[in-house]
Amino acid sequence: MSTVTPPPGRHDGLSQKDAEARLLRFGPNSLPAAPPDNIFRIFMRQFLSPLIYILLAAAIVSLALEDVRDAFFIGVVLILNGMIGTIQEYSAGRAAAALNRLQEPFSTVVREGEIRQVPARDLVLDDLVLVEAGSRVPADIDIIEALDLRCDESLLTGESLPVAKEATDPRERLTDPNPTTRAFAGTMVTRGRGRGIVFATGSSTRMGQIAVEIAKRSSARPPLMVRLDHFSKTIAWAVAGTMALLVVIGLLRSMSLHELFMMSVGLAVAAIPEGLPVAISIALAIGMRRMAKAHVVVRTMPAIESLGSCTMIATDKTGTLTKNELAVTDIVLPDGKQVPTIGSSAIASTHEKVANSETLYALLRAAALPNEGRLTFNENDLNGEGDQVDVALLVAAHRGGVTHGEILRSYPVLARIPYEPDKRYAASFHQSDNGVRIFAKGAPETLIAMADRMDVGGRAIAIDRGALLRQKEALTAKGLRVLAFADGVIAAEHAPPYGDHHLVGLVFLGLVGMRDPIRPEVPDAIRACRSAGIEIVMITGDDPTTASVIATEAGMDFVPDEVVTGQTVRAACELGDEGLDTLTRSARIYARVEPAQKLAIVRSLARNGHFVAVTGDGINDAPALKHAHVGIAMGRKGTDVARESAGIILTDDNFASIVGGIREGRVAYANIRKVIFMVISTGIAEIVLFLLAMLLGLPMPLLPVQLLWLNLVTNGIQDVALAAEKAEGDELSYPPRAPSEPILDPHMIRRVWHSALVMGAGGIAFFWWLIANGSSIDSARNLLLLLFVLFENVQTFNSRSERHSVFRQKLRANPLLVIGVLASQALHIGAMHIPGLSDTLWISPVSPGEWAVALALALTLLLVMECDKWWDRQKTGKLETGDLEIQLD
Ligand code: ADP
Ligand code: MG
Repeated sequence: MSTVTPPPGRHDGLSQKDAEARLLRFGPNSLPAAPPDNIFRIFMRQFLSPLIYILLAAAIVSLALEDVRDAFFIGVVLILNGMIGTIQEYSAGRAAAALNRLQEPFSTVVREGEIRQVPARDLVLDDLVLVEAGSRVPADIDIIEALDLRCDESLLTGESLPVAKEATDPRERLTDPNPTTRAFAGTMVTRGRGRGIVFATGSSTRMGQIAVEIAKRSSARPPLMVRLDHFSKTIAWAVAGTMALLVVIGLLRSMSLHELFMMSVGLAVAAIPEGLPVAISIALAIGMRRMAKAHVVVRTMPAIESLGSCTMIATDKTGTLTKNELAVTDIVLPDGKQVPTIGSSAIASTHEKVANSETLYALLRAAALPNEGRLTFNENDLNGEGDQVDVALLVAAHRGGVTHGEILRSYPVLARIPYEPDKRYAASFHQSDNGVRIFAKGAPETLIAMADRMDVGGRAIAIDRGALLRQKEALTAKGLRVLAFADGVIAAEHAPPYGDHHLVGLVFLGLVGMRDPIRPEVPDAIRACRSAGIEIVMITGDDPTTASVIATEAGMDFVPDEVVTGQTVRAACELGDEGLDTLTRSARIYARVEPAQKLAIVRSLARNGHFVAVTGDGINDAPALKHAHVGIAMGRKGTDVARESAGIILTDDNFASIVGGIREGRVAYANIRKVIFMVISTGIAEIVLFLLAMLLGLPMPLLPVQLLWLNLVTNGIQDVALAAEKAEGDELSYPPRAPSEPILDPHMIRRVWHSALVMGAGGIAFFWWLIANGSSIDSARNLLLLLFVLFENVQTFNSRSERHSVFRQKLRANPLLVIGVLASQALHIGAMHIPGLSDTLWISPVSPGEWAVALALALTLLLVMECDKWWDRQKTGKLETGDLEIQLD
């Protein structure tokens, strides 16, 4: 760092202008990434495949035999194939890169005195950064404020235990660098919170210095692609085997070696689905883009497919099913008195009432002090930053005449115990006229246990726990989230360090109920899940009664017995896996669950045979997110750890988006099947055609160049178009498919055989009939090639739906597909008229009558596949009219 400007104001951070200037001058806070592949490299890579080597060999053999025309044609096919592959791969890569950009991390900074979210790469020297449990430290920082702050530095040091961090004096930070007062880029905050000033960014950070390779994204291939590669290889072997058989038959029939060789090459090119992996990446990339539009960001491609096959969603409550817009609606004092006016707009009148109520004042004070929220005022509007519970409490306190800033001035803070979900309370220690006072807020059960007295009319009397629990029950029965408050004085002999051991013998101050409205789109989404065979369970840290009321409002299906608590889960765990599995088989709502129990529940659900999607946001959720079949992190309130552990991120934290994502996942998987069906069935058809010809002693039905041409004009655009098919509309009315189900399931195999037989046998019958009726072999091949181009075009349409009629699929829903088919017809008919090309391909113009006959024959394929689908629908009882269309937008 060449220049060091004086440290900025401790609380205000940099000005936006200054930050922008520094960003220009020092560059972004990111490590140099590996440059993306350029188009030329991608093009060259297309030629690194065994299939291409076979074709090259064929070209060389043709040249050696002085068949310059064939050799030239093969060369052109090679280059065109390479170009198609390049365009496909390039666009798939671009889509993936765009999604990577969507996942860029943000960090919280203070600029111009305001808390802001900025992309982590925009951080500059001297920025004031806020970190808390679950966030990744975005740059190297000097810590100037630490609250129970601990960092996991294993990435840098290999040390697996979190390291405690302390604050340093901002004035001395640069003269006395000390690793315990610094946090380093890339390390993870595991506990507490803190603020720090950036002293190094980008490649100047420790991380940047030691490891460029950590930053390099691993380019491991996703499992789905590996499986597909394997699948393609299997097909290739099957093709090779058939080819060997053909060659043997050919030799027995004393065909020339050259002829046999060229035939094998042509068939190999036609039947080996070399373009499949790329077409499937495209299907996935399109799925990713559609999901991103539906607020679902997919971190790894296979997660798309997994999301489509999940059978259960284990969801959070707050923010996911509800809006996480909390407002205090009820206040109940320990004597049972309701304070109804707070929460309405009648601020002035409440203020007077508050002045009359010591207890209410004490309650609001205990709500405002152990509170990490911030209120911002513009005109009459109150807005807040931070935890929604905290903000709602600050708003209520403010309306009741207790202002956060003022009260903090009267009670200077000495120490804080911040809220963590596993503790369910927050507390703070303050200086006051009569010694150190402690204020606490949190879950009612927790606070009732901490208190031994309660405040009634300004006097502390013995606590009546039963009465307080009944008051709490009355509030939770309304579906409210309930918080309790208490305060106390610390005797001089119990001096610092302050900690949770001080939280005893407190005075209970009352309860507050907050409404968190359900998201309006949730009931529909839950209904959609039901029809899609997906079960829903709720896992929450909140009260069981509150959770049940919210679940009912959301339209979840459950009986009271299916509501269990963290205690029940713990007891069941003690009986071992079976105990827990029995519990999770029936439970629907898990309330008062500790974050650490989530993983056990998720594992148990999986043992019960479910394919589970789990939502989570906190650092404690990370293990469950990682071990679930599909981890879904919250993009807004989620921590960095949660996001990094999940396969999927919801950018709007909304439950309904998950359902949209599941639909897109099913669409993407269906599209992959469509592409595979199209490619495999036409490839096998060509092999069947040749096998039959050889067995019947007919001449080679198509020339090698004709096979190459067929492959060129009927694939490429069409399979990409199929990969982009829109939803059929009934994706959510089927139960999820088993994740272990192979792509080539019996249904697919049957469809492939039916269509391959129609094409192969129909083609050979046509060829035989033509020759029997005096056609020359050349003109018979000419018409057979036309028939095959038409067959494959018809098959493109057949592939658009596995179960529904072709006529149900709207043409304008997939213009690319229509264009692809028309283009292949135009190319083929055109080639018949272009002198050089028609000679090379041994084709010649056909009459409209001949074309019509070929089309009529090709349409038999449509007829057969329609009957096939009809039969299928009868069998499964899924009638088109019974389809449930669900609109989630
Ligand atoms: P959820 O699963 O609905 O997100 P949480 O785990 O966030 O529930 O909260 C569990 C309980 O912790 C709440 O019912 C409440 O009693 C308490 N709680 C939540 N937020 C705070 C907070 N900011 N301060 C104190 N206590 C809180
Ligand atoms: Mg929560």
